[in-house]
Amino acid sequence: MHESAVAQSVLESILAEAEKHNARPKSARISCGQFNALNDEAMQVAFEAAAMDTPCQGMKLAIDHKPLRTLCKSCGQSFDYDIYSGVCTGCGGENIVFEADAPLLLEEIELEQDTPNESDAAKKDPRQE
Ligand SMILES: [Zn+2]
Repeated sequence: MHESAVAQSVLESILAEAEKHNARPKSARISCGQFNALNDEAMQVAFEAAAMDTPCQGMKLAIDHKPLRTLCKSCGQSFDYDIYSGVCTGCGGENIVFEADAPLLLEEIELEQDTPNESDAAKKDPRQE
């Protein structure tokens, strides 16, 4: 279970980004490969716990699972590994090697600008010409 460590680091990245843009995080999407795969449910729970009492509280987190890229040593075909077939999609051979697994990535963050405060306008002196 590495979800809580991942949740914490994702949260910190989102908070830093939100602060940089002076905006509120609304949703985010992360992606992971097969060997570092996250359990969706555990990740949601861990993220919610980490986001508690931060500007990230209540935001949505989506998780993309990237397929494992595989290379066939017989015919040179590069394809997404399918655990149900386990053979090359080109020649049907089993002489395959795994390429680099997709890294754990924070793909995108959707930020929401705070709506301009109306009291700012009210502060201007209307009598000033
Ligand atoms: Zn092949």
